[in-house]
Amino acid sequence: MRSFIQFGSKKIDFRLEYSDRKTLGITVTPELDVLVKAPVDTPFDKVKEKLRKKAPWIIRQQNFFLSFHPKIPTRKFIGGETHLYLGRQYRLKIIEGTIESIKLKGQFIEVVTNNKSRVKQLVNDWYFSNAKKKFHILAMPLIEKFKKYKVVPESIVLREMRTRWGSCTPKGKIILNPILIHAPKTCIEYVIIHELCHLVYHDHTQKFLDLQTKEMPDWEKWKLKLETLLA
Ligand SMILES: [Zn+2]
Repeated sequence: MRSFIQFGSKKIDFRLEYSDRKTLGITVTPELDVLVKAPVDTPFDKVKEKLRKKAPWIIRQQNFFLSFHPKIPTRKFIGGETHLYLGRQYRLKIIEGTIESIKLKGQFIEVVTNNKSRVKQLVNDWYFSNAKKKFHILAMPLIEKFKKYKVVPESIVLREMRTRWGSCTPKGKIILNPILIHAPKTCIEYVIIHELCHLVYHDHTQKFLDLQTKEMPDWEKWKLKLETLLA
């Protein structure tokens, strides 16, 4: 069941599961979800009391995970503003014209429109369709490489996620955050490799890390780059 407690000004949502166990356990997932596992006979008041006691810890955990989450910098979508594409800075150039178009030209992202309020939409659509193309191009050779582990992703899809760069379903669908199109190619490859490793190991155990290091020895560098660039 789902419920929440109020802690000061903060509302903490949680999921409660009763199970055959002796003590009450609280975990905070990287997605910021709070999961409470309680012995079958625990009164609900007791659960809430325990949660209130642990609230400062829960908030600390959530803030810790939040610090790794992708954040989209606020943009005004006006001429001269800089935007990142595959790790490079481009400046937005808005040109009046009746036939709408958008393309990279030198160090500019050139947008043609006669309606300034359309720029944001045009730029975002352009990022999204490029993300789709680029991610597939980058993933292809990596998928090929992972065939030696007898794994192939069912599909690769793009989905905006508030909390992650990528994820992987139990059925082997790899989900990538389109925001990655702002990062350098190698950062995107790191996320794809990370998710491909999850097709072999579904957790973050040492075996998983060993495999990731084998397939990308300098992954830590790219992970850090990603976190500093987009976080
Ligand atoms: Zn992972």
